[in-house]
Amino acid sequence: MSEQAGSPLEDLTAGGPAIDAFELLANETRLAILVTLWESYRPFAEDTTLQFSELRERVGTADSGQFNYHLDRLTDHFVDATDDGYRLSDAGLTVVRSVIAGTGIEERTLEPTTVDMDCKLCGSPAEIAYEDGWVYVFCTECDGLWTDRSDDERGQLARFSLHPAALADRTPEEIYAAAWLTTYQKLHSMIEGVCPTCSGPIERSVVVCEDHEDDGICGNCGRNGRGAARLSCAVCKEWVQSTLGSIAKYHPAVVGFCYRHGLELQYGVESLAQIERRLDEATSKVDLVSETPPRVDVTTEMDGDEIRVRLAEDLTVLEVSERTA
Ligand SMILES: [Zn+2]
Ligand SMILES: [Zn+2]
Ligand SMILES: [Zn+2]
Repeated sequence: MSEQAGSPLEDLTAGGPAIDAFELLANETRLAILVTLWESYRPFAEDTTLQFSELRERVGTADSGQFNYHLDRLTDHFVDATDDGYRLSDAGLTVVRSVIAGTGIEERTLEPTTVDMDCKLCGSPAEIAYEDGWVYVFCTECDGLWTDRSDDERGQLARFSLHPAALADRTPEEIYAAAWLTTYQKLHSMIEGVCPTCSGPIERSVVVCEDHEDDGICGNCGRNGRGAARLSCAVCKEWVQSTLGSIAKYHPAVVGFCYRHGLELQYGVESLAQIERRLDEATSKVDLVSETPPRVDVTTEMDGDEIRVRLAEDLTVLEVSERTA
C-alpha cells in the first residue's frame, strides 16, 4: 500500500495542534471542567451552558486564580465561552465521547459463547467472544477464514472492532449484530471516501495474495480467500479490512438484485437471523481476472441467477453485469 501522503500527523512529534490538544488534556482541573460541562450537556436542549460561578462550584477548585487560568486555556479549543456561560465545543464533545466509548465503561469481556449460527465453511456451530475491544467469531471445528491470533487454536471466521459500551444490556446475539452493523457502517462510509471517525479522506486498495494456497487457510497471507479490501484514513489512521464480497454488496445493483430475490442487504442487520440469511443465501465468489493492474470479479449468486461486479485496484466499480438462469 502506498505511503499515506498529506497526513497532518507527520509533524506530530514536532508539536502542532495535536500535541497542544494532548497537553491541554493532561491536567486534572481541565479534565474536571470538561467532564462537568459534559454532565450538564443534553442532546436537543436549547441551552446547556453553565455560568462561571456554577461551573466553578461544581468543579470544586478552591483557588479562583487557578480555576480561571485552566478554564481560559480550554476556551477556544474544547470549551466555548458565550454571553450566557460555558459549554463544550464540538471538539470538546468529541474528546469526552471517545473517552467514554473507549474506556469510560468498566472492563467488559464475553467468554466464547455458542450462538444460533453455523460456520459457513464446515457447518459446525460458531461461537462469539469479546475481548480487548474486538468481537471474535470462531468456528468450533475448522481453521476458519483468518489467522491473526497465533496463540489461539480456534479458527476465526470474523473479527469486528466494537466499543465496550456496546456490551451494555445486550445478549451475545445482539452484541454480534451490533458489531456487524457498526463495522458495515464504517465500511460503507470508507467506500464513499469519508472517514467515519475524523471525516478525512480514505485510501482504498485490493490486496491479492501472490502465492495463494487454495486449500484452507493460506500459509502466505493468513486468509482463506485470495483477495481482500483494505481501507484506511490518511489523517487519523482509522482502518477496516473486509472481504471483496462485502464491497460488491454495497453497490446498488447488487442491493437491488438481492432485494428482487427476497433479501434485504441494508435493513434488518440488527437481527442475527437476517445476518445469517445474508451469509447463507448471498454468497460471493471472487476471481482475479488480471494481476497487473489488479482486476477482481465478485459474483453473487441467488436462486441460480448471478450478478458480477468488476473492481479496480482502488475498489472502484468498473463494470456490473447480470446473468439470469
Ligand atoms: Zn468451520
Ligand atoms: Zn494467500
Ligand atoms: Zn480519519
